[in-house]
Amino acid sequence: MSIKVEDYYARETFQKMKAFADTQETPFVVIDTAMISQAYDDLRAGFDFAKVYYAVKANPAVEIIDLLKDKGSSFDIASIYELDKVMDRGVSADRISYGNTIKKSRDIRYFYEKGVRLFSTDSEADLRNIAKAAPGSKVYVRILTEGSTTADWPLSRKFGCQTDMAMDLLILARDLGLVPYGISFHVGSQQRDISVWDAAIAKVKVIFERLKEEDGIVLKLINMGGGFPANYITRTNSLETYAEEIIRFLKEDFGDDLPEIILEPGRSLIANAGILVSEVVLVARKSRTAVERWVYTDVGKFSGLIETMDEAIKFPIWTEKKGEMEEVVIAGPTCDSADIMYENYKYGLPLNLAIGDRLYWLSTGAYTTSYSAVEFNGFPPLKSFYL
Ligand SMILES: *Cc1c(COP(=O)(O)O)cnc(C)c1O
Repeated sequence: MSIKVEDYYARETFQKMKAFADTQETPFVVIDTAMISQAYDDLRAGFDFAKVYYAVKANPAVEIIDLLKDKGSSFDIASIYELDKVMDRGVSADRISYGNTIKKSRDIRYFYEKGVRLFSTDSEADLRNIAKAAPGSKVYVRILTEGSTTADWPLSRKFGCQTDMAMDLLILARDLGLVPYGISFHVGSQQRDISVWDAAIAKVKVIFERLKEEDGIVLKLINMGGGFPANYITRTNSLETYAEEIIRFLKEDFGDDLPEIILEPGRSLIANAGILVSEVVLVARKSRTAVERWVYTDVGKFSGLIETMDEAIKFPIWTEKKGEMEEVVIAGPTCDSADIMYENYKYGLPLNLAIGDRLYWLSTGAYTTSYSAVEFNGFPPLKSFYL
């Protein structure tokens, strides 16, 4: 298998990123912000009725926060630190939701004091904390969804609750003086099966109807989370196809009178815009007759590539070297044997690949810099540059 850069980047874009990369020492990520801008516009065009809350955890760089703020985006925030960072860039509290269902009471209070009035929950204990620390706020309840086997980076089980509990929580929210506002779900990140949204939206519909009929609670919001795809080795449908299909599911269940819709993209906005550039540290064989080479590079699981855990995300890897290809194991530079990125899935790299050659990890703008360890084995955090 050999990767064609043209499948991932426009020629001029790649040339510009490569020219910049040539001036820097590895490892680092270079990000083309124009691609983020385009991805945001494409998402807005696909879902023109939806509000976009950027999931800051995907890449919290101020350059990205500023860009999306100026384009009118809102922000999905997971901690007081993300909150401070985003508000320091001039984002107002009415453009923020506290989307983490796992939070301390004092952190809820902090958000409330900063003016945030939109909170996610999936448990009674958290809901009671919200009622105390953020009285009168709007809450939406996150439900469990199917589809973890078709999402390359699932977000199920840990978050969300069953339908019956979601209804109980929304009734309790009303009784505690909160505003029972809506339902959220996340179908799993890099979700390749679009029909998973159909099942999730159908569940939401049942909750909307039953709460209205049985308890007189009229919900206003569906937060459909993220899950939209980036371009990795395993190809996906286009974003237009996602949008068309998901809108069809929404209309089937809710008709033309759609509730307020929120999307919380992370990966799909940012990933494609980044290239992680690394250098080959060593190439080795484990015995005289071993068929597989090991390619050790100066990035690994602890410096930004944690999404290679269980080889979940298969990043396209490109090199300038051409020639006969051979299967390799690709591993990072640290003294930890977990620091192997790909061993079962066979990447091919040219036989003439040598120490000092560069590897270009495409579509690495999201979930890399923010996941990089601060000092494991003394290696510094992954650098990033924004063009
Ligand atoms: C991580 C996360 C997202 C972003 O998901 P992507 O698949 O990267 O788009 C959205 N919402 C919540 C609550 C999240 O935790």
